[in-house]
Formats: sequence, structure tokens, C-alpha cells
Amino acid sequence: MEKEKLIVVSAPSGSGKTTLIKHLMFTLPKFDFSVSATSRTPRKGEVDGKDYHFISVDKFRALIAENGFIEWEEVYPDRFYGTLKSEVTRIASMGKIALFDVDVKGGVNIKKLYKKQALSIFLQAPSIEILEQRLRNRGTDSETDIQTRVQKAAEELTYAPEFDFVITNDDREKAKEEFVEIVQQFIDS
Ligand code: 5GP
Repeated sequence: MEKEKLIVVSAPSGSGKTTLIKHLMFTLPKFDFSVSATSRTPRKGEVDGKDYHFISVDKFRALIAENGFIEWEEVYPDRFYGTLKSEVTRIASMGKIALFDVDVKGGVNIKKLYKKQALSIFLQAPSIEILEQRLRNRGTDSETDIQTRVQKAAEELTYAPEFDFVITNDDREKAKEEFVEIVQQFIDS
């Protein structure tokens, strides 16, 4: 296993995680985003190989069998997401710090695997109601998907204490600052 530090960010869907991650990568360029594999279909504007490696359920199962993931989860029924070993190697070989955007169980698992090498951050919306509103405003998910994600968020919140830090995304600018500060401290430590 590599000695490089890595950052894991987990959050219920709609917590503003993508915005925060983009901000961090823009502010501190020593990171590279670990592009996960998923069996879900791309949303409008998502690019294969950049946002995710979009693959079929069969291909996903084949990768599981080949031991191609450091972790994977069936986050929603028949929607698999996994962190590819090849991504971790690629990022480490460039001397960069890998940034993982994974679900809460994935976040807990990566932290267990990498221990002090990993900084795990849980990002939460101020409330379930606000989260539901944000998902709706995003306009990228169907009503069924929104309901599934809201129900799941309630369960996901129970994992927050297992993370190194919890950030509440109340004020976006403050959350961005807090996020960069926590990461900077970890890199400097
Ligand atoms: P979305 O469909 O909104 O892009 O992602 C749904 C959830 O899957 C999010 O919580 C996201 O962080 C998570 N996810 C994305 N990639 C991975 C991965 O490689 N592993 C795990 N465990 N979860 C992932």
C-alpha cells in the first residue's frame, strides 16, 4: 500500500459535495479526483472517464470478480459504484493526493483501510428538508430518485460520527473555507 495521503469525502446526495470538491481542486492543485466506476446511466453533462467510468452491471460484476476495486457498494438497487485500484495507482504514480467522493459506507471502509494516511470528511446539509429542496432545485433526478435519495440520507446521517470531521453545509462560502482549512492542515501535518 502507498504511503501517500488521501482524502475521502462522503455526504448524502444533495449536500453540495460536488461543488465543494471542485472548489478544493481549484484552490489546491495537488489533488486528483479518483474517477469511480458506476453502473448508473450518465446525467446530463456528465462525461465518461471524467465524472465516472460508466459501465454495465455485467462489466461491474466482472471487475468485482477480478478484484479490481479497493471498495464497492450497491448504493441503490442495481446501481453499483466502486473505487478502482487502477485509479489509486494512477494518482499515486503522478505524486498527487487522491480525492475520493464515495458514499458513507465507502468512506468508512477507505478510512479503515488507509487509517492515518486518510482524512475522512462527512458533509451534511443543515436538515433533511433542505436536502430535499436542493435535490429538487438541482433538476437532474426523477421524483422517484429524489425520494430514494432522501430516505437514504436519513440512514446515512447515522454514519457521521465515524468520520474524522463533519462539516455542515449551511453557508456555502463558510463550508468551502472550512473544507480547505481542514484539508490544508492534514496535508501540512
Ligand atoms: P451519484 O449517483 O449522485 O453520482 O452518486 C451516488 C452516491 O454514490 C454518492 O454518495 C457518491 O459519493 C457515491 N459514490 C460514487 N462513487 C463511489 C465509489 O466509488 N464507491 C462508493 N462506495 N460510493 C461511491
